[in-house]
Amino acid sequence: MGRRRILWQLYPSYLLITLVAVVAIAWYGVRSQREIFLSSTAADLESRANLVLPHIQTLLDSGDTTAVDALCKQLSRSADTRMTVVLASGVVLADSDEAPQDMENHGSRPEIVEAMRDGVGSSMRYSATLQNTLMYVALRFQSNGQPAGVIRTAVPVSFVAEALRTLQTKMAAGGLALALLAAVVGWFVARRITRPIEDLKRGAERFASGDLNRRLAVPSSEEIGALAEAMNGMAAQLNHRIDVITKQRQEQEAVLTSMVEGVMAIDRDERVINLNDAAARLLSIDPEKARGRTVQEVIRNSRLQQVIAESLANRETVQDEITLTGKMELLLQVSSGILRDAGGRDIGVVVVLNDVTRVRKLENLRRDFVANVSHELKTPITSIKGSVETLLDGALDNSDDARRFLEITARQTDRLHQIVEDLLSLSRIETEAGSGDIEFENTRALSVLEDAAANCECNASGKAVRIVIDGDDTLQVRVNRLLMEQAVVNLLDNAIKYSSAGSVVELSTAETAEGVVLAVRDEGCGIESEHLPRLFERFYRVDKARSRELGGTGLGLAIVKHIVLAHGGRVEVSSEPEVGSRFEIHLPKTGFAA
Ligand code: ADP
Repeated sequence: MGRRRILWQLYPSYLLITLVAVVAIAWYGVRSQREIFLSSTAADLESRANLVLPHIQTLLDSGDTTAVDALCKQLSRSADTRMTVVLASGVVLADSDEAPQDMENHGSRPEIVEAMRDGVGSSMRYSATLQNTLMYVALRFQSNGQPAGVIRTAVPVSFVAEALRTLQTKMAAGGLALALLAAVVGWFVARRITRPIEDLKRGAERFASGDLNRRLAVPSSEEIGALAEAMNGMAAQLNHRIDVITKQRQEQEAVLTSMVEGVMAIDRDERVINLNDAAARLLSIDPEKARGRTVQEVIRNSRLQQVIAESLANRETVQDEITLTGKMELLLQVSSGILRDAGGRDIGVVVVLNDVTRVRKLENLRRDFVANVSHELKTPITSIKGSVETLLDGALDNSDDARRFLEITARQTDRLHQIVEDLLSLSRIETEAGSGDIEFENTRALSVLEDAAANCECNASGKAVRIVIDGDDTLQVRVNRLLMEQAVVNLLDNAIKYSSAGSVVELSTAETAEGVVLAVRDEGCGIESEHLPRLFERFYRVDKARSRELGGTGLGLAIVKHIVLAHGGRVEVSSEPEVGSRFEIHLPKTGFAA
C-alpha cells in the first residue's frame, strides 16, 4: 500500500470539514432566514386582517355586502394586500382583486378550512389568478355569536425569494472567502505541524545510514521535541555502543593479528568462521577467500582436516604434530579444541597452529652436535686408549715401539686439545656476540690480512704455497682485530691445506656498495657444489678422512661464520672442483658502533 505524507492526510480532511461547516452554516442561515421572513409575513398578514376585521364586521352586521367589497378594494390598494371575505358556506362575499360573483366557492381552501376550525389559518401556494406564489392568512369572524366566515389577506411571497437570493449570494461569497482563508491558514498550520516531523524523518534516515554524529534540532512542540530528544539520545547511545564494539573488535583483531600462533575458528558444518594472519600465512591461504568456505576447500593437508573432523565429531580437544609440505617444509603443532559462543553454546572448534619447525630444527641440531662432538672426541680417545694399552701390554719395553705409541698418543692428544680449543672458541664467540661483549676498533682492512698471512707463512712455505696480498691500503674496517684475524687465518689455513705445492693463495680486500669484502682465493682442489650450502655447519667435512689427515677439526668454517655474524656481516663461498675456491667475508659499511 502506497504511503501518503501526513500533510496530505491532514490537510484534505481539514479542508473538507471547513467546507462542510461553511455549507451547513450557509444552508442553515438561508433556511432560518426564510422561516423568519415567512413567519413575519404571516404575522403581518394576520395583523392586517385583524385591523380590517372590525370594519368588515360592522358593515356585515349592517347587511351592506356591496360596501364590504368596496372596502376590500380600497384597503387593498392602500395596504398593497389582497383581501377576500368568504362566508362560512364558502361563497366569496368580497374580493380586492376580482368580482366576487365570478369567483368559485372557496370553502375547501386549506387556510379557510383551518380558520373556520381554529380561528386562524394560513397556507402558501401558487395562485393561478395572480400567477404568483401567495401567502394566505385567514381569520374567522362571527356574526351574532356564530362563526360567520373568514377574512383572508394575502401577499405574493416572490419578494421573500428575492431577498433570500440576495442573502444566499452574500452568504456564498462570505462562505467562499471564509473557506479560502481557512484553507490558507490550514495550510500553514498543517505545514507547521508536519515540517518538524519531516525534519525528524530526514534525521532518522541519516541515523539509519550510519551518520550518528549529527544531532536533530529539537522543535518547540512538546511531543515532537521530546521525540527529537529521545532520538538524539538513542543516536548517542548507539554511537557509544558502536564505538565500544568497534574498539573491542579492533583489540581482539590486534591480539589475533599479532599472535605468532595461527588461530582458526571453524563452525559445526566445517566452515571457516575466521582466521588470523598467522594461520593464513602458515597454511598459505587467502583469509578473505577462506572465510565461509569448508575446511576441505581451504586446507590441503589431509591430516589437519582429520584432526578438525575428529575434534568436531567427538567434541574434544585433539592435538597432533603435522608436516606441511610446500615451498618450505613446516612442522606444525596443532591443537583443535571446542569453540563456545558468549552463551556457552558449542558452535564449532578453534584450531591453534604453532610453528615448531625452528624449535625442532634446533633440537635436531643440538642432538646432532652432541653426537658429532662425541664422535669426534671418541676417535682420538680410542686411539690414545689403544696406544696406552699397547704400551702397557709390553710395547713400553721396546724403546722404538714405545716412542711410536707415545708419538701417536701425543698427536691424538693434540687433536683432542685442538677440538676442545675450537669448541671453546665457538662457544665463547657465541656468548660474547649474544651479550654484546665484543669490542670493535677501526683498523686498516689490509693490515688484518697481512697479520693473518704472517701467521700462516710457516705453513705456506712448508707446502710451497705462495701467499699474495692485494687491495686498497686505505680501506678501513670496524672489527675486533683478534677475532677477524682468526677468521682470516682459518680461511687461509684451509686454502693452504687444500692447495697443491706451487700454487698461489690470494688475499684481497675491496670496497662494495654494502661495505668491505675480505676474500681468500686458492687454486686448490675446490668443492663440489652440493656441499656448499652445508659447508659452514659444525663438523661438516667434504672428505672426513682427508680433513682428519690434514689435522682439521671440521669446526674452522663454523668459527669463521660465527665471527663474521658477530660483526653483522656474512660469509660467501664459490668454488669449482679442480679449479679452486673463493671465500668472502662481507662486512657492513659502518660496522658495529663503538
Ligand atoms: P676442516 O677443519 O676439516 O678444514 P673446516 O670447517 O675448516 O674444517 O672446513 C670444512 C670442510 O670444507 C673441509 O673439510 C673441506 O672439505 C672443505 N674446505 C674448506 N676450505 C676449503 C678449500 N679452501 N678448498 C677445498 N675445500 C675446502
